[in-house]
Amino acid sequence: MTRPGGATGSAARSPAPEDAPRSCPSAPAAPGVRLLGLLGPDGRVHNLKSVVTVDAGFLEAAAEAGPVEARMRFAGRCQTSGCAQWTGSRCGVIDKALAHIEAALPLEAGALPPCTIRQDCRWFAQTGARACGACSYIVTDRRAQVAAE
Ligand code: SF4
Repeated sequence: MTRPGGATGSAARSPAPEDAPRSCPSAPAAPGVRLLGLLGPDGRVHNLKSVVTVDAGFLEAAAEAGPVEARMRFAGRCQTSGCAQWTGSRCGVIDKALAHIEAALPLEAGALPPCTIRQDCRWFAQTGARACGACSYIVTDRRAQVAAE
């Protein structure tokens, strides 16, 4: 796990141009992706406040406690049409999550959560602050949650 020198998050950076590559906030765990957040005991993902890039050793160690994508969220390059969640023009994950979450509970308005990828986040580019309101409820690997439902 490495911490790039001087990286402290995204708040001061300018948004990416419309056609720029975007970051996927629910990317598969793989060496070189960024650790975005950790699932807390409250069932919500809590984002890191600084950029942390993971390596194979970190992922191997983390996997000893179970599937890492059930406990951590990672950010990697959005694959657009190379991803099964791509609808042809946007990421379907956040649209489905918002429809589900907003129907179930009112999302909190107010300050955005800390986030190291907001400047180029696919979900934020598509949906703005609403995406950040739903983001912490999204777990990449939901197999255990689904089995318990
Ligand atoms: S939806 Fe918001 S909080 Fe979640 S990764 Fe994107 S910018 Fe960050």
